[in-house]
Parts: sequence; C-alpha cells; structure tokens
Amino acid sequence: MDKFFSQKYCDRCGQSLQAGRVMSMFNRDCLCLDCKEKEMKDKDYKLAQKAEREAIKKGDFNFPGIRK
Ligand SMILES: [Zn+2]
Repeated sequence: MDKFFSQKYCDRCGQSLQAGRVMSMFNRDCLCLDCKEKEMKDKDYKLAQKAEREAIKKGDFNFPGIRK
C-alpha cells in the first residue's frame, strides 16, 4: 500500500499514472484510469466488489482481493 502513492506507472499496463490512480478491485495493483475502466467491465467485477464489502464487514481492511 505504501508504494501505491509513490509509484509512477500502472502495475498492469505500465502507463504513467499522471492522470490518476485507482486501487484494483481484484488485487492490490495500482491502476491507471484506463485499466480501471476495463476492470469495471469485467464480468467478475461485482463479485470482487461484494467480496471486498464482506471482508470489510468482518473487519478485514487488508483484503487482498479475489485474484492474485
Ligand atoms: Zn494501466
């Protein structure tokens, strides 16, 4: 998480993060906005969202996501 705010490039495509950065819903990747948009269209996105919500409800704020 600490490198999240300091890294300069997207973990997934290597693009510059100048336009913005978002945490992946599937794992701990730091994504550019393009990759986030692609991720939101993934058929498992809702599932990943649900899994994260459940984890937070249980007090697990370090939920690593459903994908590695
Ligand atoms: Zn990207």
